[in-house]
Amino acid sequence: ASYYNEHTVLWLDGKILKAADTKTDLYGQSLHYGYSVFEGIRSYRTAAGKTKIFKAIEHFDRLQRSATTLNMPYRYTTEELIKASYDVLESNNLQDAYIRPVVYGPANMSFNPNTESFTVIQTWEMAPFLGEKLLRVMTSSFQRPNPKGFKIEAKAAGHYVNSIMASHEAKGKGFDEALLTDMNGFIAEGPGANMFFEKAGRLHTPATGNILPGITRATVLELAEDLGIPVEQGQYTPADLKQADAAFFCGTAAEVIGWHSIDDYTFPISWKDTQSRKIQQAYKDLVIEKQPKLETI
Ligand code: PMP
Repeated sequence: ASYYNEHTVLWLDGKILKAADTKTDLYGQSLHYGYSVFEGIRSYRTAAGKTKIFKAIEHFDRLQRSATTLNMPYRYTTEELIKASYDVLESNNLQDAYIRPVVYGPANMSFNPNTESFTVIQTWEMAPFLGEKLLRVMTSSFQRPNPKGFKIEAKAAGHYVNSIMASHEAKGKGFDEALLTDMNGFIAEGPGANMFFEKAGRLHTPATGNILPGITRATVLELAEDLGIPVEQGQYTPADLKQADAAFFCGTAAEVIGWHSIDDYTFPISWKDTQSRKIQQAYKDLVIEKQPKLETI
């Protein structure tokens, strides 16, 4: 993948700089120990042709919570970072894009806290996806990190070694994606997305506690309410999932994407006939701020 070229700019602590000219410290605590926090955000070209960052406030508020939860100095307001993000998008001539802020530390080989931090915002083109492709998902042999060992509600870089291992395993076995359980064996989430399953017209999703409670997950809960689709949050086992009618992942990058199967179980209801598909369509309309069609007489 090409994330940048010689023209690409990024935002680094108040300055718009050429990505190819910037550097990072090879003695950094973040590089050596995975001690940094980040966000994954999308912007869309709206139906009206404008560039809109979806749930910008929610994402930058979470970035701040992630940093402060991990005792990192945090230097900017949500408002400042939203403005910076729009500046980088515009400078790179991007509308449908992925926005990646990272807060990281200085040179420090000890485990002592830092008094300073750096903040970078990178962007790259990412088309909205929401295709009809359905994923073949595998129950991972990797479990999500134990919340007693990690601040799992923070998006910390180091946590993502777990996600990378689970993805490698699934793809190595010919699947599209992994589903991880929590430390008690209940279904939790994908490597970078939350999940819902559908049974008899109702949606079910793992309760918060042992998952990253995603912003897309919150949006799906709202859309389900608007559409009158009942949702339950609870503790579910891999066996429960194998009696479901349909399932999907949801996340900023993944958007809402349906599953074909979990392990050797194929979901019996055609995706187009599910309630989940209605959620997918509503999400797609929401991110581009599509107005409801005016009734013509
Ligand atoms: N779980 C994990 C582990 C993730 O990395 C992500 C992506 N941030 C999500 C869930 C979905 O979160 P969101 O909807 O906020 O992107």
